[in-house]
Amino acid sequence: MLKLPDYVRQLMVKFQKNGFQIYVVGGAVRDLLLGQTPPAGGENWDFATNAKPEEILNLLPDSYYNNKYGTVTIPISKSLLLEVTTFRKEANYKDKRHPEIIEWADTLEDDLSRRDFTINSIAFDGREIVDPYHGQEDLKNKLIRAVGDPDKRFSEDALRLMRAIRFSSQLGFLIEDKTRQSIQKNAKLISRISWERIRDELLKIIASAHPAEGILFMRTAGLLAMILPELDICFTIPQKSPKRHHIYDVGTHLVMALKNCPSADVITRLAALLHDIGKAETFRRDESTALITFYNHEVVGTKLVEKIADRLRLSNLQKKKLVTLVKYHQFTVTELQTDKAIRRFIRNTGKEYIQDMLDLRFADRVGSGARPTSWRFELFKKRLAEVQKEPFKISDLKIDGNDIMKILQLKPGPNVGEILKNIFNDVEEGRIKNERKPLLDRLSSLARDRDKR
Ligand code: ATP
Ligand code: MG
Repeated sequence: MLKLPDYVRQLMVKFQKNGFQIYVVGGAVRDLLLGQTPPAGGENWDFATNAKPEEILNLLPDSYYNNKYGTVTIPISKSLLLEVTTFRKEANYKDKRHPEIIEWADTLEDDLSRRDFTINSIAFDGREIVDPYHGQEDLKNKLIRAVGDPDKRFSEDALRLMRAIRFSSQLGFLIEDKTRQSIQKNAKLISRISWERIRDELLKIIASAHPAEGILFMRTAGLLAMILPELDICFTIPQKSPKRHHIYDVGTHLVMALKNCPSADVITRLAALLHDIGKAETFRRDESTALITFYNHEVVGTKLVEKIADRLRLSNLQKKKLVTLVKYHQFTVTELQTDKAIRRFIRNTGKEYIQDMLDLRFADRVGSGARPTSWRFELFKKRLAEVQKEPFKISDLKIDGNDIMKILQLKPGPNVGEILKNIFNDVEEGRIKNERKPLLDRLSSLARDRDKR
């Protein structure tokens, strides 16, 4: 028997004792059958009942109802809300987006028939499982299969095209043949869906356990060409050329970078997927040497991801992060770099994104078939850490204008600032330590030099 949390069981008993049917449906049942505990939080539990909203409000005086979809919210505690939805059937999908009319259904079976995939159409009443579409079998065989006729289901609601791929990427399931063919056939319908909803599914695919498979599936299905055409075209851009390390075309490299991105942050992963997106436009092949170049691809790429961020309605913060990572992803890693150059890198990237930038570089390397790291990369990371301990601003110096005025016997004025800047430069370049003693000694020796003259 599936184990339910006490608060879930208690709620269900309350309904049942009052003569109503109530079932756990959707993701929670799926997770439990897979042997996983549904993540904590009320939003991960979906309930279906034959009680009408008014009846639920009567049964549970704390509950409230403020939508037309028959979903009643039940506060269990301050931080825990459960949602119970009256059995529904949906008819007449006029704009292919929102069900036109929502009708209550009489039976659980009707309610389950409107759900998207067999693995999401299993119900549990606390004792028994109801599974008219054989979702358990598909769970066992790791298959995503539409409930009923796939063509009909995808044209009713084209978001399901993305949801199929999303569940497949999250669970590591294949999409059953007929359902897969239908996704291919109906891919164009995705244009009826709002970018916000497409974005939500796309980001779930990117954050999932199998993001590369998800993106490649989107490509073969023809969905990528509609959602991220700039990425789709990258699969036609070769980059194998003499004296270059590349083994993949640009698109495959980007997907491999996503696959190998060590970050759990979805925007860093998205940056891994899009970092070379400017290469399609900047591709050049020299006739005589056959050498391929992509000069300034990061500049073109920056423009493209700005557009993509707007299209996907990313938040300002998400956009800023994505753009920054793509813009500066070409940072050089060499032992010949000055501290100043490393500081410039930190300034450009922003302290808060340094780890993401390193994760992106790791993804980029492994995604081109290179080893995960090199001594140069390790040295760079060490120097990054060291340099960050040093001051960035003149105000971080261990001496200030007062010390200068006192030791050099100067009046306030531009002179003082000039000297401070010179010393700051020396500290930044590692010629003198940012400690009071050596800095004061330096001032004294400046004073002596001046007096000699
Ligand atoms: P998760 O919460 O992990 O994303 P889930 O299966 O709970 O997975 P939800 O989006 O929370 O997915 O939806 C809950 C349930 O509602 C689904 O399991 C499915 O039965 C049904 N459902 C959701 N969206 C659709 C849709 N577009 N078409 C048909 N049924 C849907
Ligand atoms: Mg859910």
